[in-house]
Amino acid sequence: MSGKKRTKIGNIHIGNGEKIAVQSMLNCRYDDVKGNIEQSIRLEESGCDINRVAVPNEEALILIKEIKSHTSMPLVADIHFDYRLAIKSVEAGADKIRINPGNIGGMDKVKAVVDCCRERNIPIRVGVNSGSLEKDIVKRDGGFTAKGLFDSAMRSVSVIENSGYDNIVVSMKSSDVKMMIDAYRLAEKSCIYPLHLGVTESGTMSIGTIKSAIGLGALLADDIGDTIRVSLTGDPVDEVRVAKEILSALKLTNGINLISCPTCGRTSIDLIEIAEKVEKAVSKMKTSKNITVAVMGCAVNGPGEAREADVGIAGGLDDAVLFKKGEIIGKLKGDIAEALISEIREML
Ligand code: SF4
Repeated sequence: MSGKKRTKIGNIHIGNGEKIAVQSMLNCRYDDVKGNIEQSIRLEESGCDINRVAVPNEEALILIKEIKSHTSMPLVADIHFDYRLAIKSVEAGADKIRINPGNIGGMDKVKAVVDCCRERNIPIRVGVNSGSLEKDIVKRDGGFTAKGLFDSAMRSVSVIENSGYDNIVVSMKSSDVKMMIDAYRLAEKSCIYPLHLGVTESGTMSIGTIKSAIGLGALLADDIGDTIRVSLTGDPVDEVRVAKEILSALKLTNGINLISCPTCGRTSIDLIEIAEKVEKAVSKMKTSKNITVAVMGCAVNGPGEAREADVGIAGGLDDAVLFKKGEIIGKLKGDIAEALISEIREML
């Protein structure tokens, strides 16, 4: 929720105090129209705010119209090399274009894209990543650096600005988490445009989640960032789930924040199974409220944490004490997870 310039992407606003938008990217092949539509629908159902699709060739342009007619999320067209695809994507209804001005040809081509975006007031995201840094910057710095990443991004921004346009979003991704954090911190000081955060090529579910939580979390905790993408090698719906968990952990979004103890020798009930069942159920619940749910194994720390939460349990021998808003409501026996899930549903 930064103080950056406010901009509109389709039906949502980002920057200048707007809520952080969660973005994901489709990973079905460009010629699988049905698969891309189905994946887009699942992304929308999972709470994704902004969808992105790769447009590698003319054949892929049909995806823009098809996806937009089945979902209401803003759609970003991801373009490399061919400026005509950027223009055709905008004409097909894309709500934002992601380009790297350095790889789509000369200034005349960039200007043609800018003119097309200006007509419809479509934002352009200039996305640089550490793998595509200009040779002179790498030479200057003796390798890949955060400063180099930042300078490269600002160079791209200048290209768009020099074409007379300022509806810009900036990203500076790197698979090096520390480098990415440092680059965005530099941008926060001097760049007026909204920042799209991401750790690129972060890996599969477990390692990618850790890297993204560190990279995005460090920046978001300092109020840096306007849109985020968790890049995972896997189902993009998981990217949205992880992104929402990161935002929830920092209290940057409304929803259900689940806390559960790690269990220890004092735990008598099957807390791990209960916590997993509750986590699965709450991941599908939608609410505009902030609800903290505590799943605790025993009465040592349990009631304390559970009382702080909006609803929670503290395990006993074969039952659990139920707390709601700091008050003991009763005891749960039998299917403790299901009973707690019903209590949570009542609070939505
Ligand atoms: S809440 Fe109780 S069961 Fe859970 S880790 Fe703490 S002491 Fe152990």
